[in-house]
Amino acid sequence: MQYEYDDQNIFAKILRGEIPNQTVFENEHALAFDDINPQAPVHVLVIPKGPYVSLDHFARDATDEEQLGFMRAVAEVCSSKSIEDGFRAISNARTHGVQDVPHYHLHIIGGAQLGRMLPPVG
Ligand code: AMP
Repeated sequence: MQYEYDDQNIFAKILRGEIPNQTVFENEHALAFDDINPQAPVHVLVIPKGPYVSLDHFARDATDEEQLGFMRAVAEVCSSKSIEDGFRAISNARTHGVQDVPHYHLHIIGGAQLGRMLPPVG
């Protein structure tokens, strides 16, 4: 699999400070910010600072430090938001996954009872 990163995507612009964001948490390797179009009371996006297009790209090529920093940011988001009763973490990838922004991001969604993940096949 060949991954091609487009540095003009909107999250790359957020990382460069070219467009604003509502930061929830930041460390050396990751940034977490509120989704601009929330699907639930809590809807945070966690993104790595490195140029990775999708979860599989990040999992394959990111360094151990980048992966740890990313997961620690997830932990900070989960402990700072009111999602003690649970949440959903989603990462859409490419066409079948209906990914709109080609910079890896994890949606952390919660703060209310969510519906089932997907309708059954068939
Ligand atoms: P996806 O379809 O998984 O690629 O999700 C992209 C997400 O990025 C959507 O939930 C959008 O609402 C969100 N989004 C797009 N632009 C911005 C922005 N400028 N700030 C925060 N979230 C954004």
